[in-house]
Amino acid sequence: MAYKAELGNGQFLFVHNQGAQTLVTLSHQSAGQQQSQTASFETGAWSSPPALYCTATGVILKITAATGDRLIQLQGQQLQSLSTVPALPEHDRVMMQEAADSSIPSLSFLPPLQMGDMAMQMNPMRMQMGDMAMQMPSNPASAEQRFCPQCGNALQPDDRFCPQCGHGLRS
Ligand SMILES: [Zn+2]
Repeated sequence: MAYKAELGNGQFLFVHNQGAQTLVTLSHQSAGQQQSQTASFETGAWSSPPALYCTATGVILKITAATGDRLIQLQGQQLQSLSTVPALPEHDRVMMQEAADSSIPSLSFLPPLQMGDMAMQMNPMRMQMGDMAMQMPSNPASAEQRFCPQCGNALQPDDRFCPQCGHGLRS
């Protein structure tokens, strides 16, 4: 089971326990683009769900494991383990929602799987077999899929030229 919380400004925090590791993924979504980064912390298996606090010094994630509490601080884009325990007032606590493991961006950010001339990339979902390419939007914002007016090739939102035929595109 994974947990997620919205931090505002299109930022989401995903927390996931995998064996003795806690994987913390920070995901940022804007204008059809999704960026994410994951940090892994040796915490031991959780004994209760993680707690998140939005304090004056930053966002602090509290992992409760059989071996003790671990605190992970998010400052800007940096995730780091805290050795000293700051005050964590209960009114700073942010509720985390349960999330399916499959909803974690980092887990779909695996390197492209290559098998012969078949390539598969998970985010955005894209599949290529020989000359045939198939792409699915990874989130609703990118649902406005553009296609080249010249050759019909599927385009990325920031393409200025069609990668297939070189047709110039208005942005
Ligand atoms: Zn084209």
